[in-house]
Amino acid sequence: MTTSSSQTPALWFDLSTEQTVLLGSLRDFLKKEVAPGAIARDKSGTFPLGIVKQFADMGLLGMQVPERFGGAELDTVTTALILEEIAAVDGSLCLTVASHNSLCTGHILHAGSSQQHETWLPDLASGKNLGAWGLTEPGSGSDAAALRTFAEDKGDNFIINGSKMFITQGTVASTYVLIVRTDSPGDGKHYSDGISAFVVEGSSPGLIRGKPEEKLGLKSSDTTPLSFENLEVPAENLLGKRGAAFKDVMEVLSGGRIGIAAMGIGLGRAALELAAKYALERQQFGKSLSSNQAVSFKLAEMALELEAARLLVFKAAALKDAGRDYSLAASMAKLKGSVAGVQACDYAIQILGGYGYIQDYEVERMWRDARLTRIGEGTDEIQHMIIAREFLKQFQ
Ligand SMILES: Cc1cc2nc3c(=O)[nH]c(=O)nc-3n(C[C@H](O)[C@H](O)[C@H](O)COP(=O)(O)OP(=O)(O)OC[C@H]3O[C@@H](n4cnc5c(N)ncnc54)[C@H](O)[C@@H]3O)c2cc1C
Repeated sequence: MTTSSSQTPALWFDLSTEQTVLLGSLRDFLKKEVAPGAIARDKSGTFPLGIVKQFADMGLLGMQVPERFGGAELDTVTTALILEEIAAVDGSLCLTVASHNSLCTGHILHAGSSQQHETWLPDLASGKNLGAWGLTEPGSGSDAAALRTFAEDKGDNFIINGSKMFITQGTVASTYVLIVRTDSPGDGKHYSDGISAFVVEGSSPGLIRGKPEEKLGLKSSDTTPLSFENLEVPAENLLGKRGAAFKDVMEVLSGGRIGIAAMGIGLGRAALELAAKYALERQQFGKSLSSNQAVSFKLAEMALELEAARLLVFKAAALKDAGRDYSLAASMAKLKGSVAGVQACDYAIQILGGYGYIQDYEVERMWRDARLTRIGEGTDEIQHMIIAREFLKQFQ
């Protein structure tokens, strides 16, 4: 069994020539260079630097970076299509590409000055530097504003002390965006006030990489705790307005959620394809599995839920591209895409029976990889909270 034959489902709109060429060459590359090693990378947990460099040559590490900084300047819809394709073949690589683009690079793009864009974006877009984004801490996850890492103002520099948890590319990155506290919340202000963001060179003394985590899935994506001991950062590396970064963080996360939704859908789609082919071929009780309604209805539900999720992804992406408020749509897409993706992988395991539980058949890896999409960049519960809050606004 292999996912290399994974197909982009028919869309209701025609892809542009640029999108067709881009997705066609990406699919060829994934089939030839990425799919054959997916099982081995899952077993070894090795970060696939060679493939990531080849992705960089294809423009995938600066997807939304303007061309003048060496980026591909793609829109969010195209970015989501690309992430779904990568996830359908390798979830770990999808998380690497998604987080590099939307979190680290995305934060610099969103909040950085033109000088900071010139300084940091070219090396991120070319893949010379991989990017990581540190928000989560041991004591603050969903309640991100409760972070305690502190940057002390020393005039020309800030001195950072504290720690971060679960940082994607924590070990392999050369450019880090760190979200820290610089100031106490102002009187009567929420504790999200006083939070700032800095871009930090990976080679800076005092930036200490911990031991990479051993995870359920996404084994060849790098997830590492960080600690900071008197990490000195030039004041000019402050991204956006001092003490007001939490709003930027929320914006960056909303953009990232579209990518995580696409990742869940890509993994679910690959599992659905494997399950559909298997159900048509496998004979039990003298007939194909697919001729049992209990099986075909599962396939129907997988296809339906993934398609519904994909529509939400396109809606959120199109709103973002149009410069309109997309945070509600992004949370809906994230929740639907991740739940539909995990459900599809789970059903695929069921449809493959015992084989579904065996590594060579890949659906168990897809389930393990997809499971993160319901946790990272805001859990299911946090998406429910955002959706409820945003939805209720119109009645208040
Ligand atoms: C593989 C991986 C990669 C990651 N990459 C990054 C990264 O690159 N950068 C980064 O900054 N972070 C990263 N994270 C962290 C991730 O974003 C957090 O794990 C996530 O936001 C949840 O935080 P937590 O783990 O502290 O869980 P907690 O916040 O402790 O939540 C635990 C459970 O309680 C629920 N819960 C919490 N509060 C409420 C509430 N008010 N109401 C109802 N339920 C609630 C949550 O939904 C969850 O189910 C990564 C995590 C993983 C596993």
